[in-house]
Amino acid sequence: MRLTPGNVNPRRGSLTFLCSRTNILFVPADYHTHTPLCHHAIGAPVEYALAAIGLGLDEIGISDHSPMPGPFDDWRMDLADFSDYLALVSEAREAVAPYPVRLGLEVDYFAGQESWIEKLTGLAPWDYLIGAVHYLGPGWDVDNPKWIGRFEELPVEEIWTRYFAEYERCVRSGAFDFVAHPDLVKKFGHRPAGDLRPYYEPIITALVETGTVMEVSTAGLRKPVGEIYPGPEMLAMAHAAGVEIVISSDAHAPGEVGADFDLAEKLVHEAGYRHTVQFRRREKTRVPLS
Ligand code: ZN
Ligand code: FE
Ligand code: FE
Repeated sequence: MRLTPGNVNPRRGSLTFLCSRTNILFVPADYHTHTPLCHHAIGAPVEYALAAIGLGLDEIGISDHSPMPGPFDDWRMDLADFSDYLALVSEAREAVAPYPVRLGLEVDYFAGQESWIEKLTGLAPWDYLIGAVHYLGPGWDVDNPKWIGRFEELPVEEIWTRYFAEYERCVRSGAFDFVAHPDLVKKFGHRPAGDLRPYYEPIITALVETGTVMEVSTAGLRKPVGEIYPGPEMLAMAHAAGVEIVISSDAHAPGEVGADFDLAEKLVHEAGYRHTVQFRRREKTRVPLS
């Protein structure tokens, strides 16, 4: 499908007639989406782009799980497939031109990865790089159901402390345009009792000091915790501190593009947000949410 300029509306769409969910029209982009190259997502980037067009989003970004320099785990693209990744995004761009398909990558951060991340940064003309913490050190991806038993082996306070310490280092690396799913560690519903703000505060400070944007991810709604990442308290702290946000689905299938953006928009609005940002070639622009 090739869109003519007449099909693409400067203010969120002459394509609106295709959208059955008019209440998401003011979220301009979905930047966190995957491809089959990571071995746990379905649908080519062109299908994600068509889904975004159908929803009336202004643009789509593709951001598959980054390759590692050697064997690492089984849920990311292989380094040997990296050129295929760039080709898939190019194909999507050509198929839906002039609709914008942005090139991103969800990069795993953990201590010791800095030089590899620097290498990844130079591998392509990225529109944005997403920093993501899944690992509490090698061998423990905290969101992997395979390791859920470890939540019974250690105090949840210790797990949260380790997670947010790694997340702060991720933000402070300064390597990323935005950081993903800020409180992913709650995925299976494990959280300490009492005031959780001491876990969030160092992250908010790091976001402010580095000018890094925070993701508001609807993926948590599709997980056991059943909540957006981050929750309302962390989001309110981010707003009060002046942290900018993007709203993402973390789609692993074309049908998940823009998933629950109506709920996310409501949540961020209640926290006080009236703007989000768009990225192009790692430059960000503020965009009104409504
Ligand atoms: Zn994934
Ligand atoms: Fe992730
Ligand atoms: Fe993801």
